[in-house]
Amino acid sequence: MLAPEKRPALPSSLTAALLRGAKGQCPRCGEARLFRAFLKPVDHCPSCHQDWTKQRADDFPPYISIFVTGHLMAGPIIYFGAESPIPLWAATAICLAMAAALMLALLQPAKGGTVALQWWHGMHGFVPSGHDEAAGAARPAGGRPWG
Ligand SMILES: [Zn+2]
Repeated sequence: MLAPEKRPALPSSLTAALLRGAKGQCPRCGEARLFRAFLKPVDHCPSCHQDWTKQRADDFPPYISIFVTGHLMAGPIIYFGAESPIPLWAATAICLAMAAALMLALLQPAKGGTVALQWWHGMHGFVPSGHDEAAGAARPAGGRPWG
């Protein structure tokens, strides 16, 4: 694999890496898309050549999405259940549609953030970890191609 032409702008912190992943950008360089399909990450970043095949997000992104959706939907459900002027069947239909849309909208950001978290902490074979690389503790194999 070819080394990138310039040194990628590594994130300065876990939060920066998580934000890049949640926005669907490569957590390492922030310059290319992380996903080639809705929930399918690219194998390698076209910009910094980071290998993303090592990510193992598994069920964690749906868990995050369901958890956040449940908390955000508490208000509308309580409102519609307690003081809504519309019939219960209409309130239920509205809440189900809102919950489904919110959960789907949160899935890709949750997966991007999960991939960024795994990369930052060096989980599942991400060596060097994003943290070590950003701290300058690790050097790419074969020396520094950026000079
Ligand atoms: Zn990249």
